[in-house]
Amino acid sequence: MTPQQITVLGATGSIGRSTLDVIARHPDRYRVHALSAHRRVEELAALCVSFRPRVAVIDRAADAERLHALLRAAGCETEVRCGPEALVEIASATAADTVMAAIVGAAGLLPTLAAVRAGKRVLLANKEALVMSGGLFMQAVREHGATLLPIDSEHNAIFQCLPPACPGGLAAAGIERLVLTASGGPFREWPAERLATVTPAQAVKHPNWSMGRKISVDSATLMNKGLEFIEACWLFDATPAQVEVVVHPQSVIHSMVRYSDGSVLAQLGNPDMRTPIAHALAWPARIAAGVDPLDFATMGALCFEAPDLARFPCLRLAQEAMQAGGTMPAVLNAANEVAVEAFLDERLAFTDIPHVIASVMREMPVSAATELATILATDHEARGRARAHC
Ligand code: NAD
Ligand code: MG
Repeated sequence: MTPQQITVLGATGSIGRSTLDVIARHPDRYRVHALSAHRRVEELAALCVSFRPRVAVIDRAADAERLHALLRAAGCETEVRCGPEALVEIASATAADTVMAAIVGAAGLLPTLAAVRAGKRVLLANKEALVMSGGLFMQAVREHGATLLPIDSEHNAIFQCLPPACPGGLAAAGIERLVLTASGGPFREWPAERLATVTPAQAVKHPNWSMGRKISVDSATLMNKGLEFIEACWLFDATPAQVEVVVHPQSVIHSMVRYSDGSVLAQLGNPDMRTPIAHALAWPARIAAGVDPLDFATMGALCFEAPDLARFPCLRLAQEAMQAGGTMPAVLNAANEVAVEAFLDERLAFTDIPHVIASVMREMPVSAATELATILATDHEARGRARAHC
């Protein structure tokens, strides 16, 4: 078997590292074509020494010089490039078969879209890219024959519970609803008054998952579920009414599909992202991921409850943005990115995150999101407006 050549965008992040962990378990199946990182030069250098990619990309020219020096000192021949154009190049390179899109936030949109337009097998972790550009992104998948595989654990679970194809749509395949499970985050049981006191350190400590800082805050506000709601509509061609959210604090059931005969199919597993990553890397085959088997004897009870949209309004804002359509999900995403950064810098209270997003959504009209230029301009404007509220 010829090994698949993989580009990992965002290699130094939580998803990037988990991806490389799975790849390292299967050297006969996978080779690393390229790796990228934003600022962490030493970490990227160490990954290059271990995985020997053909190309490594870092954001700034000064960091590229240091990376180059570190690699040559270690006897590593990896070519070093820098800047956003280089990200697009490694995402669309002829030599790469598969691209793991694991950059966080809007910064991942252009390279992820480039991978799609090059017809790659795209493993999508970067949900913000799809939230911003949904219709255009999915059209590019169809036009360029890309294979899009969801890495988000919920969407990967739904993908596993769906029939192999639904040519006439979900309803024609007997599917009533997609059920996204949510852990509820670290503040699920906190009273509303206490939420104003949440600190960044408390917010980034998720009870079940170990993740990057931005998505950890999104999980705490339930915006992560909101972004996933929008992501599910686009990935599975579902209407907002066909997607439901249920809080399941144990994070053992990663999501479910309801069928018209009353059957509900669920995918279960330990909360470890190496499972969806290994699933998407090998699909339709199955490979070992290094994940502990579920132990039903010690697992205890699985609980479910409705999400509380009064204490966690970000989920409702995302549902409203999807209903509004067009550029509104891009507005929501941009305002959220700015508000989360302000919260992490201790310039904004946790409970003001939804206020900032709601204000920017009120201020900006909905436009058609059929052109990339419109989406990028909307993102830019929404960021400026959000900064004015922080
Ligand atoms: P992270 O913060 O740990 O890593 C982000 C990666 O992106 C890093 O390699 C960083 O160098 C790179 N990066 C950051 N800003 C960049 C920029 N401006 N330009 C280029 N590169 C940049 O994040 P993560 O937790 O690994 O999440 C990555 C993506 O996967 C996010 O979209 C997140 O929503 C999604 N996701 C993560 C998890 C998880 O368990 N961590 C689960 C589901 C989905
Ligand atoms: Mg998820």
